[in-house]
Amino acid sequence: MKRLKVKELLALEPGCDVLAKGWVRTKRGNKNVSFIALNDGSTINNIQIVCDAVKFDEELMKQIGTGACIAVKGRLVASMGSGQAVEIQADEIEVYGTADATYPLQKKGHSMEFLREIAHLRPRTNTFGAVLRIRHAMAFAIHDFFNSKGFCYLHTPLITASDAEGAGAMFQVTTLDLDNVPKTEDGKVDFSSDFFGRQTSLTVSGQLEGELGAMALGDIYTFGPTFRAENSNTPRHLAEFWMIEPEMAFYDIKDNMDLAEEFIKHCVRYALDNCADDIKFLNDMFDKELIARLQGVLKDSFVRLTYTEGIKILEDAVANKGVKFEYPVGWGIDLQSEHERYLVEQHFRKPVILTDYPKEIKAFYMKMNDDGKTVRAMDVLFPKIGEIIGGSQREESLEKLEKVIADRKMDTRNLWWYLDTRRFGTAPHSGFGLGFERLLMFVTGMTNIRDVIPFPRTPKNAEF
Ligand code: ATP
Ligand code: MN
Repeated sequence: MKRLKVKELLALEPGCDVLAKGWVRTKRGNKNVSFIALNDGSTINNIQIVCDAVKFDEELMKQIGTGACIAVKGRLVASMGSGQAVEIQADEIEVYGTADATYPLQKKGHSMEFLREIAHLRPRTNTFGAVLRIRHAMAFAIHDFFNSKGFCYLHTPLITASDAEGAGAMFQVTTLDLDNVPKTEDGKVDFSSDFFGRQTSLTVSGQLEGELGAMALGDIYTFGPTFRAENSNTPRHLAEFWMIEPEMAFYDIKDNMDLAEEFIKHCVRYALDNCADDIKFLNDMFDKELIARLQGVLKDSFVRLTYTEGIKILEDAVANKGVKFEYPVGWGIDLQSEHERYLVEQHFRKPVILTDYPKEIKAFYMKMNDDGKTVRAMDVLFPKIGEIIGGSQREESLEKLEKVIADRKMDTRNLWWYLDTRRFGTAPHSGFGLGFERLLMFVTGMTNIRDVIPFPRTPKNAEF
């Protein structure tokens, strides 16, 4: 008999013989009958297994505790109990694996902190099952979105010799013997004997290589792991996270904003349409406004305003509305999450795309505005999250780019290939980076980024 997944079983009409396999969530009952709630990860919902005591010996039933893995053959029947349409009247049970009383997920309602300590088992909880299925669905929605628009999925390298944009501190990659590091005559590490013959690191962004792709394929996107060794122990930062970075030839900043808005809305709509059970569970368990917030994002156009206008609103809030921020506000500051969230949650009450930031606080490759002070950057700011996307129109002029690089005293030795894009057939182009886990925080309502990735990497934490 072919095994059916719980999701398929729950959609069947009663009256057929079935085979189900999964893990026991709970077992209850009396001496005549036991009820097992079985889950196999295909859906948040369990299927109920009814075991008459006359059919099963006591020893076997004892082996079937919370966490055990079993296969059940039986008949799918209409359920008498409330809460489910069908259940399985069991005829045969095979125990694949028992789980004794030390199984840590005996009870419901463990704290998120505790579950992080057992990240190897937490996917078996309702919450993480829901989050991880939504994570999968969002990855699919992202590929679906770009594929339908004719974008090419470009695989950019994870090991790099260039510090892409100073986007963050980098993890070094080396095969040198750290107990016996070769030195040059002037006492520096001799990377010429390292694996790549030079100093290398894990990438903080695929953008620079993404731009090379866009100058050949037109529209590309990357979707891969990204590493930042910043010691920022916040609920919104991981040392290893996933980023989606589209890069488009012939897009200006307006086209870039339009794409970003359409892209996020596509993902949110996909989640509402395809992950209804999981989102409803998270809504009911953690965040009663989750579904309303997701629907709200689809309804409204994102607000678009300049950094300068945004600062005025923040200054006005401080001066005239009694709003207090931890960090001071003034033109030139790098906005903190509290500032971003004030604009989104208090002032506009919808997502905001902030543009035209001071050049000093943005990366070297962003296109300069005519005012000579601001660059064509765009950050998409979201309720509960703050920055979810960072992007810009890129500077396409070789001359201007070289001047910025010189002004910033950047090391150009590792950037010659990047500058070649401006040297040979340069074109106006734009792109952005979406933090996959930030999107997932928004879609799932999880408030800590550690809870939207299976195995989080944060300072002092690389277990599992
Ligand atoms: P932040 O100011 O929030 O630290 P950033 O400006 O350094 O972010 P960018 O370099 O613009 O980030 O990266 C693009 C996107 O990647 C961000 O908008 C965010 O969604 C995501 N992101 C950046 N750093 C992290 C991180 N450490 N963990 C998870 N996501 C991140
Ligand atoms: Mn940013």
